[in-house]
Amino acid sequence: MELLLLVCVFSLGVAAPADGPNSTYDTIVIGLGSAGTTAATELAQSGRKVLALEAHDRVGGRVHTVPFGDGLVELGAEWIHGNVSSRTYALAVKHNIDTKLQPLSTDPYRSDGTKPDVALVTELLNLDFTEEHPDPPEAVGTFVTKKFMEYITKNKPDLLKDQDFITEFLEFSNLQTNTMEASNDWNDVTTGDLYEQLGGPQTISWHRHGYKTFFDIMLNKYNNGSGLPNLDIKLNTEVTRIITPQHPNETVTVECKDGSSYTAKHAIVTVSLGVLKATHTTFFSPPLPVEKRTAIEKISIGVVGKVILSFDKPWWPKDITLFAFIWKGDDKKKVSADDYWTTRILGAHPPMGSNNTLTLWTSGEVAKQVEKLPEDIVKTKCVALLQRFMGDALKITMPAPTGFLRSTWYSNPYTRGSYTYDNLQAPRYPLARKWLSYPLLDSAGEPRVLFAGEATNERHFSTVHGASETGRREAERLLSANDPGRGRKL
Ligand SMILES: Cc1cc2nc3c(=O)[nH]c(=O)nc-3n(C[C@H](O)[C@H](O)[C@H](O)COP(=O)(O)OP(=O)(O)OC[C@H]3O[C@@H](n4cnc5c(N)ncnc54)[C@H](O)[C@@H]3O)c2cc1C
Repeated sequence: MELLLLVCVFSLGVAAPADGPNSTYDTIVIGLGSAGTTAATELAQSGRKVLALEAHDRVGGRVHTVPFGDGLVELGAEWIHGNVSSRTYALAVKHNIDTKLQPLSTDPYRSDGTKPDVALVTELLNLDFTEEHPDPPEAVGTFVTKKFMEYITKNKPDLLKDQDFITEFLEFSNLQTNTMEASNDWNDVTTGDLYEQLGGPQTISWHRHGYKTFFDIMLNKYNNGSGLPNLDIKLNTEVTRIITPQHPNETVTVECKDGSSYTAKHAIVTVSLGVLKATHTTFFSPPLPVEKRTAIEKISIGVVGKVILSFDKPWWPKDITLFAFIWKGDDKKKVSADDYWTTRILGAHPPMGSNNTLTLWTSGEVAKQVEKLPEDIVKTKCVALLQRFMGDALKITMPAPTGFLRSTWYSNPYTRGSYTYDNLQAPRYPLARKWLSYPLLDSAGEPRVLFAGEATNERHFSTVHGASETGRREAERLLSANDPGRGRKL
């Protein structure tokens, strides 16, 4: 019995069976998206021995650059949002990568093939009420509708006679909010959200470099870099359970679906809120404390999706960010229930990584549905949509697409959603994201299982830079714990 105990204790800190008996890890990072890659690389560069376990066959998580059309496209994150104090932007600059600003310009089209009053639509689309925070907070839809009506009553009184236009415009604004927030309806989102934009332009593109370059840089793979000697990466490795030690002398055990298990002093969990919602009851042993479970339940993760089509050559006007689809009420009524989803597509966007592709953006429940519909139906109906909105106005017959891609962020078991947003309950749980970020401690009060990921960022959630900040936060938590001079204990 004693001998058995000795063998067990001796084997702690050992990765078995895959790595042989002598490889020990200081930290195991679960998931190699923006948060996990940041944490793993910061720790490895500081001399820690790190093992990163990633369920997908690639690094990047909700950043996924794919060769497509005459260049590449992004199935996940598209832009760097802001360049002031942005880790993503700073790394691009440091490596002399010429990111490009995609200037925001909207070209609106109506469902009957006509062009609306472009100047008027542009003026109304540029109204920005996001700086106003009513007290108590309201649903975004209710608040924006109120402010919009106040604006036109004061500045465009003639418009009040055109109720159809008002309805069409507000329905488009609803879709616009959903495409930004990943919500299903703008009345699911609170005006009391705590999100803070970084300063500077919000639509900076990695264009032909692809967002994946951010990961290549962090992993020291950019420009044929040799990687990081202290970082072992195992792809196609789904973690199924993490056992948190209670005693300071014990290690964290991480079990994987393929039967392997690994131990280390610490683990950093970076899986999405969607994955936590679906798996936390079996993923953590012992079960998570009540605050963390409450956070997992109360914070929302929604869906933003993309359908990407390539064409022989571009047929759309240049220098436009969004060809906006504004439905007329009468046209919408004629659409069958099966095709309802086609009325919930914001419009078409030419991505900057290729010249001959268009991305159609979906959100909420419709985005989930579009992931599951047969590919030929999605493709045919999307081409019909382009024809309906843009064909007559541009006097073209829509060419057949040469390629088709779509995102599956909701049905993907390793993401289960696109990103988090502050729902109507958020003002009642202002600490929820902080609770989600708290580490699990051993009996000596030392952090043993730590949490990063966009959902744990109180101000910069839903972004790549925000996720990266949390990876850095947790790496620093471990580094400063052993080196009090290094910084505050977080
Ligand atoms: C369509 C779309 C558009 C977006 N647009 C933008 C944008 O323009 N700008 C922006 O800043 N942000 C954007 N975002 C959001 C941004 O992509 C995310 O906030 C960010 O990438 C999240 O990083 P993360 O590390 O928190 O999570 P993830 O990227 O989800 O990383 C978690 C990792 O954990 C892995 N994993 C999950 N379960 C397991 C398991 N059991 N075992 C092992 N590994 C596991 C996953 O495979 C994944 O690689 C967009 C997202 C989407 C989907």
